[in-house]
Amino acid sequence: MADSPIPLIDIGAQYARLKDAIDARVHAVLDHGGFILGPELRELEAALAELGGVPHALGVASGTDALALPLIAAGIGPGDAVFMPSFSYVATATAVVETGAVPVFCDVEPGSLHLDPRDLERALDTLPDALTPRAVVPVDLFGVPADYAPIHEIAASRGLLVVADAAQSFGASRGGVPVGALAPVTATSFYPTKPLGCFGDGGAILTGDAAMADRLTALRVHGQRAGVTELERGLNSRLDTLQAAILLAKLDTFAADLDRRREIAALYDERLDGHVGRQEVPADAQGTVAVYAILSPERDAIRAALTEAGIGSRIYYERPIHRMPAMAAYHRGAPDLPVSDRLCTEALALPVFPEMTDDDVGRVCDVVTAALRANSAA
Ligand SMILES: *Cc1c(COP(=O)(O)O)cnc(C)c1O
Repeated sequence: MADSPIPLIDIGAQYARLKDAIDARVHAVLDHGGFILGPELRELEAALAELGGVPHALGVASGTDALALPLIAAGIGPGDAVFMPSFSYVATATAVVETGAVPVFCDVEPGSLHLDPRDLERALDTLPDALTPRAVVPVDLFGVPADYAPIHEIAASRGLLVVADAAQSFGASRGGVPVGALAPVTATSFYPTKPLGCFGDGGAILTGDAAMADRLTALRVHGQRAGVTELERGLNSRLDTLQAAILLAKLDTFAADLDRRREIAALYDERLDGHVGRQEVPADAQGTVAVYAILSPERDAIRAALTEAGIGSRIYYERPIHRMPAMAAYHRGAPDLPVSDRLCTEALALPVFPEMTDDDVGRVCDVVTAALRANSAA
């Protein structure tokens, strides 16, 4: 009998495991009816702030809005430049475009896959005079927190706001500092496939800056304060109370789920070492393993073999953001970003979800190594 398929991510298995807790939380909201800015949202925000090691957390409608709102709060818009790595999910850039500012794409480091500080300097030094450098958005790619020290140094000397794109890394830490406290403002996402996902769209902003938190509180409600609307140009961007309730139920097992994801990553590391490349995870970083990606020039053959064996995989990412049709105009005249280009030909995400068994991991590894052997024999 053929082995059962292994999906890339199994949200259904998570719901089955947490069904009683989630259903109870959801029904409580249906009963009290406080669907917008209800009590579960307040409760979740307090829990997120605690986990993130900061005094303020605000639930918003998506991770993309969580990135855009701090930029808007800082007065960033048309004529301003916001720097970011090109090897990321497109939302890092769409959030910037949403504000009217211009995204400026930088390359990533080949080891960490994070924003390359030297390329950030290059992009700052060659910025057209018509644009004002205002912010940088480092991305905690695949759930590993970036090395913020060199970024903060550059940002301080150039007057840039640092907004961390922690869409994949909430729950991680670096040097013992939790994601949330590694940058002045941190944006995360609760998109269903993230390590802490809700059952729809959702996101949150974490900050230690009371003035920023105060502005964000107004901006997510049409710029409204004390019942007066549009004192400043705002958005409608709250996290639904229902989604907050689901996240509260999931928070009970979140730490254990992250531990299991890291166990799975360690098993992959052990079995695949010497066969494929992978992101370097520094010793002081505890990631979320939002994505476990292998790097191989043989990527397409591996992917075909996995598909054949009924195993899910996904190309992260199909192309660097600066080569996407909607974004390429922003990069016109700028140099190639060779690391980002190469990663898009080599990176492949393998299945990771807490319910996955050690045997499942073994099966995936068997298919990957067999595909490599077949390919080198051919
Ligand atoms: C998921 C993701 C986002 C956007 O989150 P949404 O909640 O889908 O808007 C932004 N940046 C990165 C790196 C992501 O992975």
